[in-house]
Amino acid sequence: MIPVIDGHNDALLRVWRSGESLRERGEDGHLDVPRMREGGIAAGFFAIFVPEEDGAAADPRASVVATEDGWEVPFEGALSPGRASPIAHELLAIAERDLTLVRTVVDLERCLEGGEPGAILHLEGAEPIEPSLANLDGWIERGVRSIGIVWSRPNAFGCGVPFHFPGTPDAGPGLTDAGRELVRACNERGVMLDLAHLNERGFFDVAALSEAPLVVSHAAAHALAPMPRSLTDAELDAIGDSGGLVGVVFDTVMTRSDGDLVFDTPLDVIAGHIEYVAERIGLEHVALGSDFDGCHPPAALDDASKMQALLDVLGWSDDELAQLAHGNWLRVLRATWRD
Ligand SMILES: [Zn+2]
Repeated sequence: MIPVIDGHNDALLRVWRSGESLRERGEDGHLDVPRMREGGIAAGFFAIFVPEEDGAAADPRASVVATEDGWEVPFEGALSPGRASPIAHELLAIAERDLTLVRTVVDLERCLEGGEPGAILHLEGAEPIEPSLANLDGWIERGVRSIGIVWSRPNAFGCGVPFHFPGTPDAGPGLTDAGRELVRACNERGVMLDLAHLNERGFFDVAALSEAPLVVSHAAAHALAPMPRSLTDAELDAIGDSGGLVGVVFDTVMTRSDGDLVFDTPLDVIAGHIEYVAERIGLEHVALGSDFDGCHPPAALDDASKMQALLDVLGWSDDELAQLAHGNWLRVLRATWRD
């Protein structure tokens, strides 16, 4: 097995809702520690994500409506500030209870050498951080090493892309002043910024400002699948120029050219995005970002134990697969975390 660093999962949100433990092999959902081990996932980014509501908003596509040429998910409004922090702390407590936290590159190397599967804590949407950044250091002390400026909604820092198909990420304004301060503060502290869910103006604001390699943890190529969440060629080029990477997402909706949810979508569709990114900006800038427990992967890849199946369909050399599976993440995190 080729050890994998996976760019994104929502397993903490799943067990926050269900009451399961990530220490035990579950029947439902996509990812837990035993299934990470079975699939060769040495470490993964675990999202601390706060939904608008406890129920329906679990899956934004539960409220999909048809449009003339595709579909959309009507926007329910920004997250209320009072809700973000307490729920984020509940998800953090689950991570501390069930997972082995990765804080440094040395921790990550230990995972890759066969240690306990590791969890990199990621805030998906910076709502739990006060716009003054007063509590940013508190989150870092608790283990957060990656921050997504936005999810697909506006907040005090920037503006996320809506869910619809087809569409472009050119929606809404760029970063706010607080967003710019957040970028500077994360650069100073060696915290990774994740540009997944960020709109195009925000993306290029970060590209102009940030000193770190640009990272999008879970996304697809817009040229193959025209959703606002997908990366345009111009965005891909900027990621390549910065020395950064894209974690290709496993979602059928986000990777299929027709934007449909089709469970028996072949793995070639996801492999196509990996190959597109590698051909356009180089093999050293593409990685994996499953979005397990946050998306609809195809049947052949519908839990973490099946991770290696995707590597098998690519037909790449072992060295190339090692770069895709973990080498590129390792390089980018070394350059970003600086420890
Ligand atoms: Zn996401």
